[in-house]
Amino acid sequence: MSNKRVDAIEQLFLSFNREVGKNRSLVENYLTNLIGIETKMLENAVNHLIMNSDRLPRWTEVKSYCDNLRILKKHESVPCDECWGIGMVYSVFFDDTLVRSDAFVPETDSYYYEAITGRCACENGERYMKTMPVSRYTELVKQEFATGQYIAPAQACSEIVIRKNRQLRELVAENSN
Ligand SMILES: [Zn+2]
Repeated sequence: MSNKRVDAIEQLFLSFNREVGKNRSLVENYLTNLIGIETKMLENAVNHLIMNSDRLPRWTEVKSYCDNLRILKKHESVPCDECWGIGMVYSVFFDDTLVRSDAFVPETDSYYYEAITGRCACENGERYMKTMPVSRYTELVKQEFATGQYIAPAQACSEIVIRKNRQLRELVAENSN
């Protein structure tokens, strides 16, 4: 494994005040799960997430961001209005709850994250894993994507997560004043 990959993930941890030495197994977990991603893309993703996240992103978020970048490279995917070539469908979660609407109110002390709910029904999805259930994007993500600021619904999903966690943090800060 090249040192650049290790450097990138360590940088990600350090940027969110996580000591690399104490989180050795977690760093290795990220590296293992992100093994299919080319080094340059991994570095780009890490740089973007350091600038745009307010907590250490999960490895699934790093993966999702790279999947979004892949579309820009425009290879190996067929056009699809549902997944925009990614083949995977992502949703916003809070704890174990699928968040379908902007009106969702968290009742526990946790945070938002994104996760794959399944594959798209199109050819891109089939190419991934036929064993995975077919899924669709929630209205929440579709509405965000409809604002036109994103290259794919998966990216809109990432941005919702980042924004909602930021709002949550601000609310906690207000209440403790
Ligand atoms: Zn699709």
